[in-house]
Amino acid sequence: MKKIMIYISTFLLTTGTLLCGCRTYINTPYSSAEYAMGTIVSNTIYADKNTGREISENITDELNNLENNYLSWRADNSLISRINKTSENGSTVMPDDKASLFFRKVLELAEKSSGAFDPSIGKIIDLWGFYDNNPHLPEPALINELLPKCSYKYIKYTDSGASSSISLTSDIKLDFGAVGKGIGCDSAYQILKTSGQDVCGAVISVGGSILVYGNKPDNSIWNIAITNPRKDNDDDNNYLGILNIKDTPCFISTSGDYEKYFEKDGVRYHHIIDPKTGYPADSGLISVTIICNDGLVSDGLSTACFVLGIKDSLPLLKEYNAEAVFVSTDKKVTITDGLKDIFTLKASGYITD
Ligand code: ADP
Ligand code: MG
Repeated sequence: MKKIMIYISTFLLTTGTLLCGCRTYINTPYSSAEYAMGTIVSNTIYADKNTGREISENITDELNNLENNYLSWRADNSLISRINKTSENGSTVMPDDKASLFFRKVLELAEKSSGAFDPSIGKIIDLWGFYDNNPHLPEPALINELLPKCSYKYIKYTDSGASSSISLTSDIKLDFGAVGKGIGCDSAYQILKTSGQDVCGAVISVGGSILVYGNKPDNSIWNIAITNPRKDNDDDNNYLGILNIKDTPCFISTSGDYEKYFEKDGVRYHHIIDPKTGYPADSGLISVTIICNDGLVSDGLSTACFVLGIKDSLPLLKEYNAEAVFVSTDKKVTITDGLKDIFTLKASGYITD
């Protein structure tokens, strides 16, 4: 009898470990949809219900903290707002460790992308009115006046080891809109990590940025859908295609010309601006999806690569060990080599390269 008991418990233990890699076998994930960072945050968490709810609440709290205390240029006391005031009052802001890391990564990406991603672009973004519910074509003279003033090179970040400081040396306005959701995914990853064995796997999606964490209980592959950038009628597939993700953590971000835009005289004006011209990027792309091992980087790269176009994006992707799915204006889908076996095109009307 004792032998049988031992056999049974060993079997359960091995089954649990083998199938799940975590403490208990949880077949149905905890799912929730929240609102934070100005977008829908959907959580799918393979954990027991209470843990799932707790993690989900912690993630929402942290996203609100990031938005209100760090990233928003609207919140008066956020880090970004305090830095934005330094060009007027000549002061300096001392960032905490978390903020220092954002700035190091953001400035590195601005440099490596030759300014295709430029977080100093705020005043030019304001001219287009996308955030005032008043999108419109700005006066060209206003764009030309701002262009020479806007550059990440005017963000002074100094790190003396013990402390760091940030100030602006030109009258610019920082806008972290291109990396905020990715930063949110990085924080979600930190929260999930601290849960140890209580969470088997999870998918956290903050608007267009996604974190895939851990494994599903049955170890099956995660299917992550990429939005169809041109769903013109109800019959069209919602999804451009599916990514089969096995290696985690994995961060996926998409930037497209369909998120915020208006049309005038048959021309689409969207919210991803080429910092060299001050006008919406016109590199022949309608959508870029980035897959890599860092949330901020995947989000920032999706914006940078949208501006750069396919050819100029490739060396940048290599530097960051990132993969991409590009969709061109002629509905051609181009994927980088690392995705050949894991991307499946689903929507009709597209051709693969
Ligand atoms: P979304 O916010 O729709 O997910 P992105 O991640 O591409 O899309 O971010 C777009 C936002 O980033 C814009 O709304 C604007 O605030 C900002 N932005 C636009 N162009 C640039 C750029 N070239 N570099 C940095 N930030 C940009
Ligand atoms: Mg982005």
